[in-house]
Amino acid sequence: MKIKSAKFVISNTKPENCPKPDMPEYAFIGRSNVGKSSLINMLTEQNKLAKTSGRPGKTQLINHFLINDNWYLVDLPGYGFAKASKSERKKWEEFIQKYLNTRENLITTFVLIDSRLEPQKIDLEFMEWCGIKGIPFAMVFTKIDKLSSSALQKNMAAYKKEMLKVWEEMPPVFSTSSESAFGREKLLNYIDQLNEN
Ligand code: GDP
Repeated sequence: MKIKSAKFVISNTKPENCPKPDMPEYAFIGRSNVGKSSLINMLTEQNKLAKTSGRPGKTQLINHFLINDNWYLVDLPGYGFAKASKSERKKWEEFIQKYLNTRENLITTFVLIDSRLEPQKIDLEFMEWCGIKGIPFAMVFTKIDKLSSSALQKNMAAYKKEMLKVWEEMPPVFSTSSESAFGREKLLNYIDQLNEN
């Protein structure tokens, strides 16, 4: 897919204030600092569309971007930042769960995983929750330029092993680098295919 245009539409704290659900929508989510903003900017070839954050977890907003005037890319607030209090975490959960459970035009959610890390409980739990709720998702291993391909294979295999304890099969899996733009075409073509269905 060629990106012809990428425009910021609206930031929200309330799922009911999101744009009219009249186009297919794809959400991006992950632990704060996983590389979500960098990935969104890399995919859309814009330097500053999503704000790369110095202060993880600061703003808890649902950000809508309109791509090629025919689909929405949604930047969801990151989870699992170390300094979050219990009540902040609870607020995040309610807000995100409401969005994911009720957004009728949401086609799939890309769950970003830091490829340098061993399987993280919080990521596994989030994906399990998506499964229970019937929310389609794909995994995106980020920052793959930061490790050797053997280390990447090892970490991906470790995730697969954990996932297959609860899942019968793996969701779609992507690997990306926002530095080199590796994985860009594959991910965008996947969205393109889903848009056509
Ligand atoms: P977010 O909090 O998930 O939006 O994460 P950011 O996009 O702000 O990225 C967090 C940090 O990781 C920043 O310092 C980025 O420059 C860095 N980063 C993000 N993606 C990549 C990547 O693919 N490769 C490398 N080497 N660094 C990355």
